Amino acid sequence: MHPATGEDQRLAAEQLWLARDMTQIAANLATVRARIAAACQRAGRDPESVELLPVSKTRPASDVLTAHAAGYRRFGENKVQEAEAKASELAHVADLEWVMIGHLQSNKAKQVARFASEFQALDSLALAAELDRRLQAEGRQLDVLIQVNSSAEDSKFGLPPEETLPFAAALTSFDALRVRGLMTLALPSPVEDQVRACFVRMQQVQALLRDQGVEGQSYDELSMGMSGDFELAIQHGATVVRIGTAIFGQRSYPAVG
Ligand SMILES: *Cc1c(COP(=O)(O)O)cnc(C)c1O
Repeated sequence: MHPATGEDQRLAAEQLWLARDMTQIAANLATVRARIAAACQRAGRDPESVELLPVSKTRPASDVLTAHAAGYRRFGENKVQEAEAKASELAHVADLEWVMIGHLQSNKAKQVARFASEFQALDSLALAAELDRRLQAEGRQLDVLIQVNSSAEDSKFGLPPEETLPFAAALTSFDALRVRGLMTLALPSPVEDQVRACFVRMQQVQALLRDQGVEGQSYDELSMGMSGDFELAIQHGATVVRIGTAIFGQRSYPAVG
């Protein structure tokens, strides 16, 4: 063995640091998974009926690899540029899928049509038309969730609940979009009843769509619940919970939207 150089020591420290991070992420995933299972049990639901979607926004590709090694292959991102960069950095990982969960401007539709496997924040027909056009050009289809503004005054994105049904009907003109369900961000409130009201509203919109919605569309997916409110969301029928900080730790800069 040659004597350790400063560079060796720096590398060793870096590896230790990385290993510590990896262990933490794996442990957090297991904890969140267990909390999902417990919430499902309380609600009389099958734990397999709720997908844990790790939200990797602001986190490095190495964190995605760690979660992938723990068995996760779909990751939520909210910024197109960041997601595309990670997708190309991790292009060697064959089964990774990128789920766009944030508001999208029409001028980014082209990139999303190229690399995303699902888009959860559809809330305008202009965007739907642009996505459809780009997807047709790529010869692809895209799973979409309709974003609903379940907190009325609080959110600037998402459709008012009462506009969701006519919106879904209008989406039938876009062959490349496969409607799979609904997505929402609940009111970020410490008052549980206010958060619950958002989730209850989503269940009502879902029931209405199932009753009066369009042939060929599915409304089974209900993407709602984040680190702070996912157990309540599960109680009210969430099938996808989008979890960032409870898995990867606090983000160094805020990125909700
Ligand atoms: C960031 C984000 C999340 C995850 O939020 P956490 O509180 O970190 O779990 C979920 N959904 C959307 C749309 C987000 O932007």
